[in-house]
Amino acid sequence: MTIRENLARLRQRIETAAAKAGRHADEITLIGVSKTHPSEAIREAYEAGLRHFGENRVQEWEAKRPRLDDLHGAAWQLVGHLQSNKAGKAARLFHSVDSVDDWELAQRLHRACEGKAAGETLRVLVEVHLGGEETKTGVAEEGLQELAEKILALERLQFRGLMCIPPYQENAEQVRPYFARLRALRDRLESSLGWKLPTLSMGMSHDFEAAIAEGATEVRVGTALFGNRAPVKETEKGAKENTEAA
Ligand SMILES: *Cc1c(COP(=O)(O)O)cnc(C)c1O
Repeated sequence: MTIRENLARLRQRIETAAAKAGRHADEITLIGVSKTHPSEAIREAYEAGLRHFGENRVQEWEAKRPRLDDLHGAAWQLVGHLQSNKAGKAARLFHSVDSVDDWELAQRLHRACEGKAAGETLRVLVEVHLGGEETKTGVAEEGLQELAEKILALERLQFRGLMCIPPYQENAEQVRPYFARLRALRDRLESSLGWKLPTLSMGMSHDFEAAIAEGATEVRVGTALFGNRAPVKETEKGAKENTEAA
C-alpha cells in the first residue's frame, strides 16, 4: 500500500466512525505522525492532500524541516514529550505543542514566543495523564485545573484543548473509558475557566475509531499511514517509551 492509498483508506474509516457517532468527518483532523520516517514520506502525504503532521522529537524534526520548507499551509505539531530546555527550539519549529504538561515548560514556551510578530501565537494543548503504567507523561488530573488557569493567562499561548495517550489495550473498545474521561475533564474545565477548549487530541492507529466515538477532534495516526517504524536504538528508547503506548 502506498501512503496515498493508506490516506484514502484512513479518510474513509474516519468518515464511517464519525457517521456512526452522529458526527461530521470534517470535525476531525487527521494528524499524520511521521516520526522516524524520512522527509520524502511527509512530502508524499502532503502531495496526497494531508496538511497536519506530528513529530515527537525536536531534534529529529529540526533535521527534516529544512527539506520541507516549501510545503505551504502545512501545520507542524509536536505530539511527543518536550523537555523544558528545548522549549525555545520547539516554539520556533512547530505551530503547535500538543504535549504541555508542566508550568515551567509553559512559561518557557511563552517566553520563546516574544520574538514572534504581533498577534502571532503558539497553539498549545495540555497533555493529561489518565493513569496506567506505560505512559509517564502528562499532568495528573489533580493538577490540571491549576495548570490550565495559569496557561490561560499567558497571552502568547493559544490554549485550545487537551491531549492524552491512554495505556495500550489490545481491544480498542477498552480504551474508550479513557477517551470519555478526557472529554469529561475538558467539559468541566471549559465551565470552570469560562473558556472554550474545542480540541480533543486522542486516538492513534489502533484506537482512533473509539476516540472518534468519544469526541476526538484530532486523531494522531502514524503506522496506519506511513507503515511500520524501524526498531528504536537503545539510546533513544527512554525518550520514545514515554510517548508511545504501542
Ligand atoms: C507515535 C505516536 C502516535 C502514532 O502512533 P501509531 O500507533 O503509529 O499510530 C500518536 N501519538 C503520539 C504522541 C506518538 O508518539
